[in-house]
Amino acid sequence: MDRSKQIVRVSIIGIIANIVLVAFKSAVGLISGSIAIVLDAVNNLSDALSSVITIVGTKLANRAPDKKHPYGHGRIEYISSITIAIIVLLAGVTSFKESVESILNPEAASYSTATVIIVAVAVLVKFFLGRYVKSQGTKYNSQSLVASGSDAIFDSVISLSTLVAAAISMIWGISVEGYLGVIISIVIIKAGVEILMESLSEIIGSRVDGDLSRRLKESVCAHEGVHGAYDLILHRYGPVKTIGSVHIEVDDCLTAREIHNLTRQISLDVFREYGIVLTVGIYASNTDTDEATKIKDSINLIIEDYPEILQIHGFYFDPETRRASFDMIVSFGSDAPAIREDVLKKLKKVYPEYGFDILLDTDFSD
Ligand SMILES: [Zn+2]
Repeated sequence: MDRSKQIVRVSIIGIIANIVLVAFKSAVGLISGSIAIVLDAVNNLSDALSSVITIVGTKLANRAPDKKHPYGHGRIEYISSITIAIIVLLAGVTSFKESVESILNPEAASYSTATVIIVAVAVLVKFFLGRYVKSQGTKYNSQSLVASGSDAIFDSVISLSTLVAAAISMIWGISVEGYLGVIISIVIIKAGVEILMESLSEIIGSRVDGDLSRRLKESVCAHEGVHGAYDLILHRYGPVKTIGSVHIEVDDCLTAREIHNLTRQISLDVFREYGIVLTVGIYASNTDTDEATKIKDSINLIIEDYPEILQIHGFYFDPETRRASFDMIVSFGSDAPAIREDVLKKLKKVYPEYGFDILLDTDFSD
């Protein structure tokens, strides 16, 4: 089964479990007269809603690319997880409000042994459902499922707190439900904000995971004739579609035919291994000049004074035009153009007879 079908299947299990629990708990809550348990039942309803949103989001995201959206619709998944994060947040805020109210106006609820047993069962069902949905979400890289699973786990914690409060009230005759509720609400609100931030960050465009970018560059460099891989840029269009580009350094004596074969092979291998569509650009590196090595050594010496310079690459010295060019990556937050001018000035001093071009690159990936 493919990813989207699995996500829908997990969500349907979630919906069924939640609907059964809603009916179950509402009945118990009404019989025992516990507002907390009825509220809890309503929470289960919102959980079923999060599964519905996951299904709708996955179906919409899975639509084939079209002329208007040639990159596909995968980013809809971020929007559905944002929607679920808002549901988690609202649940947290509601629970906070109810808890504060119950501290200010304590109402005695009666707990029968039957109630306690039934709520305990609900806690267990919810907890294992939440864990299952969350683990499947991680497995299929679905933020919506992870958010939905977290929501279910929080519900089980809320239910557990009503149980604990019931036990305390039965043994010592004091009501702690409100205080427990406040603490749990704060934890839920914090988690809701975190899920929201994560999805928003994906929409804004976030840094590629360092582990992936390093592995990808290693795979590219494993091809014969590649001296280095730089400027890796990856654009994610949802959890399953990624396109990007990389620059590789090759000997300046390669022919177009050789470069063609090499770059094609790299794109093919990267697609097979990572499912990423990668465009490969070329930097030439000098093969037979001592002059180039001399200049390169001087550059390395000069940039030692600048901890803000993270990397230089793509160095090439053209003996005909007597120009040297290279790219420089300067850390975010530092004055890159000023550093560039500084380095240029120092280079001109050492080599007044040569021209220099320094291109500023962005620190896109590790
Ligand atoms: Zn570059």
